[in-house]
Amino acid sequence: MEIIHVSAECYPVAKAGGLGDVVGALPKYQNDLGHTAKVVMPMYRTKFLYDNEWEVTHKGSAHLGMWWFEYTIIKEKTNKLGFDLYLLDINGLLDREKVYGYDDDTERFTAFQVSVVDWLSSWKHKPDVVHVHDHHTALIPFMMKYCYQYQYLLEGIPTVLTIHNAQYHGAMGWDKSHYIPHWDGWRWGLLDWQDTINPLACGIKCASKVTTVSWSYLEELRYMSNGLEALFEYEKGKCTGILNGIDTKVWDPETDSYIEDHYTIEDAEKGKAANKKILCDTFRLDPSKPLVVFIGRLVGEKAADLLPAAIGDSLHHINGRMTFLILGSGEPSVEYQLQRMTNGLSGYYNAQIGYNEKLSHTMYAGADFLLMPSRVEPCGLNQMYAMRYGTVPIVRSTGGLRDTVIDYGDPQGYGVSFYNASVGDITHAVYRAVELYDDQPRMASIRKHIMELDFSWNKSTQQYISVYESIS
Ligand code: ADP
Repeated sequence: MEIIHVSAECYPVAKAGGLGDVVGALPKYQNDLGHTAKVVMPMYRTKFLYDNEWEVTHKGSAHLGMWWFEYTIIKEKTNKLGFDLYLLDINGLLDREKVYGYDDDTERFTAFQVSVVDWLSSWKHKPDVVHVHDHHTALIPFMMKYCYQYQYLLEGIPTVLTIHNAQYHGAMGWDKSHYIPHWDGWRWGLLDWQDTINPLACGIKCASKVTTVSWSYLEELRYMSNGLEALFEYEKGKCTGILNGIDTKVWDPETDSYIEDHYTIEDAEKGKAANKKILCDTFRLDPSKPLVVFIGRLVGEKAADLLPAAIGDSLHHINGRMTFLILGSGEPSVEYQLQRMTNGLSGYYNAQIGYNEKLSHTMYAGADFLLMPSRVEPCGLNQMYAMRYGTVPIVRSTGGLRDTVIDYGDPQGYGVSFYNASVGDITHAVYRAVELYDDQPRMASIRKHIMELDFSWNKSTQQYISVYESIS
C-alpha cells in the first residue's frame, strides 16, 4: 500500500510532543512491513533542514482566499529516516523556526493543507490512503471530497485521521471560510461545530476512519473532549484506539548510550543498582530506600501541581521510607515550589529543573518507580520506557496509562494504579509502592515481567494497516 502521512510534526525534523514521535516512527515500521509510507510536512527552518540534502520535486500555486501564493515541495535525498520525507514551503508563512505559536497559525496550516491537496491532485497515480494527524491537517479529508477543483481527482481516496490530542481543535471564524478552495456550500454542516469552522470536528466527520492513540482515551473523549463529546459519541462506529509504540532500538538498557551501566533482564538487579547509585550520589539520596521519580512537563495535564504536596505528605505519613527525584520544566510556580523544597528535604528529595536527555535515561534506568499522576494522558510514553528499563510505573488510571499498566493487586498485575488526580490518592499509591518494594522477591519478579512486555511498534503498525485495509 502507498500511504501518505500529512503532519505538522515529524521527529527529528521538527517536534513539539508525542505527535512528532509517532510520525517519525510509524512510517518507518510500515515500510519494514513492505508498504510504501511517505511523510509530507511544512518546511520549517529547523537544523534538520540545513544539515541534509534536498531536491525540488514539485512547484505549484494555490489560493488562500484572495491571496494567490506559490509553494515548493522538496524531498530528502538519502532516505535518512527510513521513508520518503517531503517538506512543503510557502514563503512568508511556513519559513519560521518554531512549529506553533504564531498569530497566523490558522493561515499557515490552512495554506499548508490547501497546498498538499493541490500537490496530490497533480500526481499521475493516486496513493492508497491519505493519513492525516490532529487538527492541523484535519481539513484535508473535506477538501479532497468537497472542493470542486479537487473532488473529481481525489474523492475516492480513503482517508484516516489520527487524534493525538483532542484538546486543540484549530477552530476559526466563519469569516475565514473563503480560505478553503471553492467548496460545495451544501456541505457547510461538515465544517461547522458550534458556529465556528472546527477542523478537528470536520476531520472526524469526513475521514473514512478515525483513530486515537489508546482505547481508553477514545472512551474518555466521549465524556471529555473540550466540546466534541456528542460528536465522538455519534461517530464512535468509525473510531478505533491504537496504542503508540516505543522505539525499542533507541530505548534499550543493554545498548543505551546515555547510561553508564548497561544491563539485560538477566542482570537487571545489578545494573539498576549501579545506575541508582549514580543518581543517589549525584543528588544526595539514600540508595537503600526505594527511589520514586517523575520525568516530564510540569503542567496541569501531568498533574505536576500536585507533586509538592504529594511528596511532602508521602515523606511525612510514610516516615521517609522512600526518596524522590524530579526532572522537568513547565509552569514557573510549580518549578519554584519543587526547587524550594530541596532545601528542607535534603537526603529525601531532590529536583532538577530543565530538560536533560541523559539524566532522563539514567532515571529510567536507576529508579525503582516512575510516578505519572496525569490528569490527561492520550497514550503516554514514559511509562513504557520505564517498564523497558525495569522501573515499576505508579500511574493514574487514565487514557493510555490505563491501557498499559495493570495494578499489582489484580491478576497478572505489574504496576501501581490509582483513580483520582489528588494528593491523597498519590500518597496512598506511593505507600503501596513502598510495600511492594519491601517484598523483594515479588518486586524482582515484577521487574522481570515488565521488562519482557512488548511495547514495540510492531503490533500497532499492523493495526494501522488493518484500518487501511478495512477502507480500501
Ligand atoms: P508529552 O508527549 O505529553 O509532551 P512529556 O513532554 O512529559 O510528554 O514527555 C515525553 C518525552 O519527553 C519522554 O521521552 C520524556 O522522557 C521526555 N521528557 C519530558 N520532560 C523531560 C525533561 N525535562 N528532560 C528530559 N526528557 C524529558
